[in-house]
Amino acid sequence: PIAVGVLALQGAFAEHVPILNGASLEHNKHGWTFCLVRTPSELASCDALIIPGGESTAISLIASRTELLEPLRDFIKAARKPVWGTCAGLILLADVVSGGGPKLEGFGGLAVEVRRNYFGRQVESFEADLDLPFLASGKDAAKSFHTIFIRAPVVSSLLSSSPDTSSTAPDRPAVEILARLPAKAKAVTGPGAGKSAGELGEEGDIVAVRQGNVFGTAFHPELTGDGRIHGWWLGEVGRWVEGRERGGEAEAVT
Ligand code: GLN
Repeated sequence: PIAVGVLALQGAFAEHVPILNGASLEHNKHGWTFCLVRTPSELASCDALIIPGGESTAISLIASRTELLEPLRDFIKAARKPVWGTCAGLILLADVVSGGGPKLEGFGGLAVEVRRNYFGRQVESFEADLDLPFLASGKDAAKSFHTIFIRAPVVSSLLSSSPDTSSTAPDRPAVEILARLPAKAKAVTGPGAGKSAGELGEEGDIVAVRQGNVFGTAFHPELTGDGRIHGWWLGEVGRWVEGRERGGEAEAVT
């Protein structure tokens, strides 16, 4: 079976497991196991990993204390196993983090700058219906995805040169933008709705990106009961594992 871990140091980790279980039914040619990851040996047994939302500073401190920082960086950047960060997880995957707070020991792997708490404080959390064209081949792909943003970050820029030179090495793919917040405020409910199209950026702020094995979303798809993004990601993980089994390039870098 394919082992998918959810980093369980702090935050909204438990919520991912039932959604993964449901979404995996669509990909049942693989067997799946889902487990919570708290130690380097648990991480080592995983083929892929979700880094949940929560408090990025707390997750980083606990990872450092439990000697997970370097194993996580190796998992993402040396083994290049599939990794998905939601919200705080996206912050930890960004090569550059701005927006205040103490300096964060992140994991890196995404050649982007992420701004923490971009949309404001807890009370400024909001919900929005997003079009996610990358789900286009899946079940119910045409329906927009209801997303929840809680003290969410934004991808403020894509980096052409990163302080972590491994992210922009010639054998790394470029960062793809997978979703933007609709610039039309009517699709945004809650205090975020007050933002003008200008504040949301001409084309809408970037809230989902992918760079090769690393996927990040600024919002929390595990809180809505809609398993389409989890299903899509498990499909990607399955393809990656099949490539590794065929002795593809994924194996060569481990
Ligand atoms: N604002 C939080 C942080 O900086 C992220 C919030 C979240 O994960 N919902 O880590």
